Amino acid sequence: MAKPFLIIDQLLLNKGNQPILQNINMSFYPGKIHVLLGLNGSGKSTLAYTLMGCDGYLPTSGRIVMDDKDITHASITERARLGISLAWQEPVRFEGLPIGKYVGLGAGEPNREKVVAALEAVSLPVKTYGYRSTDQTLSGGERKRVELAAVFAMHPRLAILDEPDSGIDALSITDVGELIRQMAQTGSAVLLITHRPELVAVADVASLMCLGSIVFTGTPKMANEYYESRCHPHLNSLGAQPWIPVVPVAQNLDSQEIAKE
Ligand code: ADP
Ligand code: MG
Repeated sequence: MAKPFLIIDQLLLNKGNQPILQNINMSFYPGKIHVLLGLNGSGKSTLAYTLMGCDGYLPTSGRIVMDDKDITHASITERARLGISLAWQEPVRFEGLPIGKYVGLGAGEPNREKVVAALEAVSLPVKTYGYRSTDQTLSGGERKRVELAAVFAMHPRLAILDEPDSGIDALSITDVGELIRQMAQTGSAVLLITHRPELVAVADVASLMCLGSIVFTGTPKMANEYYESRCHPHLNSLGAQPWIPVVPVAQNLDSQEIAKE
């Protein structure tokens, strides 16, 4: 495989005295989709914000290296200029700007064709949505689609998509998968954060995050199996896991049930 253009090297992020991310090592390649799976609260969004350089997410130790340059301390604006782009799990509102214009900003120079293509890719017909304002009249799902369209139009070197599948009205999982595939086909690397096993199929490589650590990186199929069998349903059915001390929660519940009887 070609050389990665972006590397996360031994990243650690503490909040207070608690590590929220630890031992994070990842590599990103042009045109490759890297899926990040993990339960709620495992640290996926925190990793996305840290990679994007958001305020309050400076790594405690470790490095982020892009094109052989250390960008660990680069601002969010510098990273955006370098081609890193994030579609938020909960998009903020950009009050007032017409949707077409907002999506066009991402595309750099005004380019109607790119804007139309991006809006169509997320099922927002330009006739209905192009001149509509990005305000509170948009549903949460529509805002997410606008955000995805903006990242799509931007054609970033790394697109970080934080749960692009959640709360997206009118777009099916298949549509979202197709959109991501198109991003990769045009050369973008994609960090796809999800807990939908159906989306994992579009990825080239998959990592599983648990309690702030990457506990597995390999084929999407293996990561899915690992996730579903050992990490997925609920904490009390996690059972013995190689990455956390064995806490027999399920057994405790059982014995409480027995005690009641
Ligand atoms: P995910 O996106 O996988 O659901 P998050 O990255 O949102 O997980 O959160 C990971 C963990 O870090 C959670 O336990 C969350 O409560 C904690 N966390 C996130 N941000 C902060 C913060 N700013 N200060 C303290 N704890 C945080
Ligand atoms: Mg999250």
